Amino acid sequence: MTTGKYPILFEPVKIGPVTAPNRFYQVPHCTGMGYLRPRADAALRGMKAEGGWGVVCNQETEIHPTSDLSPSPEGRLWDAADIPALRLMTDAIHKHGALAGIELAHNGAHAANLLTRAPVLSPSGGTINAMHPKQSRAMDKADIRDLRRWHRAAARRSREAGFDIIYVYAGHEMTLTQHFLLPQHNQRSDEYGGTLTNRVRLIRELLEETREEVGDTCAVAFRFAVDQMQGDAGMQATGEGREVVQMLADLPDLWDVNVSDWANDSATTRFQPEDGYQNEYIRFVKDVTQRPVVGVGRLTSPDMMVSMIEKGIVDFIGAARPSIADPFLPAKIREDRIEEIRECIGCNICVACDNQSIPIRCTQNPTMGEEWRRGWHPEQVAPKGAAEAALVIGAGPAGLECAMQLAKRGYAVTLADAREDLGGRALREGSLAGLAAWRRVADNRLHDLRQRANVSIYVQSRLSAAEVAELGIANVFVATGATWRGDGAGRTSHGPIPVDGAMRVLTPDDIMDGTVPPAGPIAIYDDDPAYMGGVLASQLAEAGRDVTLITPAPIVSPWTEMTLEQERIQTTLVALGVQIMTCRTLVRVTDKACVTSGVYGEAEQTIACASVLMVTSRHRDTALYDELAAMRAAGDIALDTLELIGDAAQPGLIADAVQSGHAAARAFEGDPAATDAAYFRREMIALADEGEHA
Ligand code: ADP
Ligand code: SF4
Repeated sequence: MTTGKYPILFEPVKIGPVTAPNRFYQVPHCTGMGYLRPRADAALRGMKAEGGWGVVCNQETEIHPTSDLSPSPEGRLWDAADIPALRLMTDAIHKHGALAGIELAHNGAHAANLLTRAPVLSPSGGTINAMHPKQSRAMDKADIRDLRRWHRAAARRSREAGFDIIYVYAGHEMTLTQHFLLPQHNQRSDEYGGTLTNRVRLIRELLEETREEVGDTCAVAFRFAVDQMQGDAGMQATGEGREVVQMLADLPDLWDVNVSDWANDSATTRFQPEDGYQNEYIRFVKDVTQRPVVGVGRLTSPDMMVSMIEKGIVDFIGAARPSIADPFLPAKIREDRIEEIRECIGCNICVACDNQSIPIRCTQNPTMGEEWRRGWHPEQVAPKGAAEAALVIGAGPAGLECAMQLAKRGYAVTLADAREDLGGRALREGSLAGLAAWRRVADNRLHDLRQRANVSIYVQSRLSAAEVAELGIANVFVATGATWRGDGAGRTSHGPIPVDGAMRVLTPDDIMDGTVPPAGPIAIYDDDPAYMGGVLASQLAEAGRDVTLITPAPIVSPWTEMTLEQERIQTTLVALGVQIMTCRTLVRVTDKACVTSGVYGEAEQTIACASVLMVTSRHRDTALYDELAAMRAAGDIALDTLELIGDAAQPGLIADAVQSGHAAARAFEGDPAATDAAYFRREMIALADEGEHA
């Protein structure tokens, strides 16, 4: 088999009693599928194996009802009844020659046990890590013995389910083992508390017992957060983090190391633009252990991967997000198709799905999560049908994705955009502070389109309906996007807000077009739950402007809690001196001020400003589509297909626009399941006989 220009990445590596076929290691990551959607999860993991990942892991897997993460559908291995669902996954992974790993977890005081109503367990009792008005119970010796028994049983069942690598997991501040390790959580005075030796005791026992139970045929991996990124307040790679690795050095067969918590491990490019950003924390591990080491850090460049191996930082290239954005990343490196890699943009939409307990989606990879229910393959689309040509109007994320997939299918594709620079909002939002990586959504697709002989691209071509008719292409996809409103209409005020004509009102589009607000204080009215208001506030404040952010929400950019960014956004704005007014709605704008009231109509407050930046909602740009539809109805244009896609059809995330373009291209003369939810497969609950329990 060819190994391309990077043969070192394709060397097999032994992990205890098993051998990985190469160095590409999909570390455990959530999918929003888990025990609820096992077929979908199996197909997703199988796709990673098909794409060349030598090791494919599942996600944190509850070992007992006292670790109930409901409503999040994570992995579940409470008893033998959970084995068949996991077997689907190991079969799918093994089919392509990869090793299957399972991340056993007891989530302790991170699991609120909302379904089971079991007691929440923790080393010392107290509050819980989840946002629930509950407290945890300090574990006594019997509880610790139970936990060890549950973990042992789960390891045995993991082997029965076909897994090759079995984890003990102390990471993300989400597991009992890590809670025992950290003095912040562990104030015990017995042999499980106090000294580091005592705090490590439980991990040592679980590693030894897992080995005893399954270590003859399965590798035992330890996932360990070496640094909490809290400086002196937490565990550090230069202190106890290193000591833990020294104490346990060769006990596990593999060290899977990272930083905690999840927001640090899965940092977005907005706050952590560098790929390989964990290297400085994990580089000591290989000096301390003989065992293979896997590390992560949004690794997509094969040159960086090789250098990490040659410098002795890791043995395996770990990835969650890069494997989500491109399940075929290893295959593309092996086949010298580097420029075809769909690089993760670090936006954390994938993470947001898990946080919403819905199946995983990805901005860059619209097939993610659709492998089973819609039968989508990230690298394959059906060949074209009877039609010959298609016109795509608008080269934003939706238009680019639609054009690319239609071109892959073999149609003669004409792509036209009004602007000189193609990419639509991926490019425009990518020009904002911290969002540069988002341009990759456009770069990847434009690169693909420019290689293809069956694609004609027209820039600076704002098409009118008459011009579309002149082109004579019978299949038209309109991806003309959406424009931010300046009238204040949004989630809170459903209609326009009264504005004095003397006040300068701006929109995010104005800022993205390069408009500089007039001198004087700027009031941002942010009635959009996502990132835009916070991004603009920080950009303007960084430019030295006096900014007040007014929002009806109780926190800034509330939806960004889903992407693990909210705290950082709000902290950054405070540090930049942005005045934040929460729970305030904009009532009217005078010539010199914004007048706000409390969300329940409390007393008005006036904020003097020289301009108002409205971040509220968007207008769909459907003028061209509407005109074409009217001409078609009147018989003035012969069109077989006229379809509105992307933000013009429904403003949403960039991920939604990409998905819309992708689905439309698949559905055209093809698969009805691509665009109609009524056709996709659902996982149905099997009704066991009453009283039946494995
Ligand atoms: P989406 O997110 O749905 O892809 P965007 O707003 O990112 O939407 O992109 C829409 C693109 O459509 C922009 O690049 C814009 O320049 C282009 N556009 C809008 N109207 C026309 C038109 N009449 N002819 C050609 N291009 C257009
Ligand atoms: Fe990367 Fe964003 Fe895709 Fe997640 S959703 S894998 S962060 S591109």
